[in-house]
Amino acid sequence: MRMVRSSIPVQRICAVERVDENAFQQQNMMQVVTQDNDGQLHTMYILCKNVNALNQWLSSIRKASIYNERMLPSFHPGAYRSGKWSCCLQSNRTVLGCSRTHSAVTLGDWSDPLDPDAETQTIYRQLLQGRDKLRSVSARILANLSLIGLYEAGVYSADNLECRARLSLNVIC
Ligand SMILES: [Zn+2]
Repeated sequence: MRMVRSSIPVQRICAVERVDENAFQQQNMMQVVTQDNDGQLHTMYILCKNVNALNQWLSSIRKASIYNERMLPSFHPGAYRSGKWSCCLQSNRTVLGCSRTHSAVTLGDWSDPLDPDAETQTIYRQLLQGRDKLRSVSARILANLSLIGLYEAGVYSADNLECRARLSLNVIC
């Protein structure tokens, strides 16, 4: 059993975006920005095992948080290192993001790269017993999805997110 180091409620998510490869010298990283009760923004960086996992997690978490209030219009695709953002070189850590978030892009501009049916099957295939039943409960599962961190350094593994999603599915089914 893996230890759960931290988790965040889906309703606190205000951006889900990719991270530049050069930010951490890592491919397939994403970031989840959350807002706490005091309005402070926090960024969780998550390392995915491959590009397919990255796309699945981006898509799933975006769908789960699509009705959240206060989604951010912009974000930093880089990381804050040595006193500046690696993306825009600005030194103010809390300065407005330099890139538009996907939620700021109009619906016409943005298309989900994934086939929703294939995605659902991939993510939940181990528990797939009936597609119709799965479709009807998947919205509730996503609402229950919590993000679980692996590393205290601020880099998180998507493997654990998947475990938690399966756990939620088990409970609901
Ligand atoms: Zn930036």
